[in-house]
Amino acid sequence: MLDVNHVVKKYGKNLACDDITFHLNPGDMTILLGPNGAGKSTIMKSIMGFLKYQGTITVDGKVNKSVEAKKILGFVPEMPSLYPNLTVSEHLEFIARAYKMTDYKNRIDELLTRFELDDKRKKFGDELSKGMQQKLNLCIGLLPNPKVLLLDEPMIGLDPHAIKELKNVINEMRCEGKTLLISTHIIDSVDMLWDRTIIMQGGQVKANVTKPELETKGQSLEDLFFAVTEGISKEEAKEADSQKEEEQA
Ligand code: ADP
Repeated sequence: MLDVNHVVKKYGKNLACDDITFHLNPGDMTILLGPNGAGKSTIMKSIMGFLKYQGTITVDGKVNKSVEAKKILGFVPEMPSLYPNLTVSEHLEFIARAYKMTDYKNRIDELLTRFELDDKRKKFGDELSKGMQQKLNLCIGLLPNPKVLLLDEPMIGLDPHAIKELKNVINEMRCEGKTLLISTHIIDSVDMLWDRTIIMQGGQVKANVTKPELETKGQSLEDLFFAVTEGISKEEAKEADSQKEEEQA
């Protein structure tokens, strides 16, 4: 459903994506895991067609920058970019019209209720708290219910209710057969159902495993993460951390 082939992205001399290749099956929920600066946002923005890069990316066989691909591709960016002079309702209506959605009122009502923004409909973008902006950002990305949805660090800045609700929405979308790619640098946030994990570090894909493959090896996601990013086991990483703390004390 999503094919990323040999993508190279440089910011000046900084190689943010160093020959990234992966393939996501239709209906798979994939976690893109990696420390800060690994290149997760850059590959997501490349998939969305926001950046210039080398390599090829296709969505359902269509070039990612084509109108056909854009119709089935959705994105929840890490940083909300709201219009200060549009209300919460106007933001969502604007997106619904841009996607030529019909009968979108019920979907807007549902999302605003689920993310506890129902009473904020008339608030302007610049009147919302950071957390509320983050929730509106999510509602905007979820509204068109795209076939393929990328979410960049979606849990950051959300309150516990919104995190729980987002996990429910993600599970529902997975059950509906949507293809999902969710980036995070927090392993503990990966406690929902997932099918594949891609671990990035230093602009490269260091691991690409399905859940059954990991289970067959008897390895936890945490073990794999530390093994590929630090070359050590989880226990060794914890020991190194406590040694550092002792040295600093
Ligand atoms: P992640 O999302 O995994 O935290 P990013 O894709 O944001 O990583 O960043 C990957 C690398 O690219 C980092 O070294 C970061 O400093 C650099 N980078 C990201 N965005 C820009 C930008 N707009 N200009 C220059 N360098 C950037």
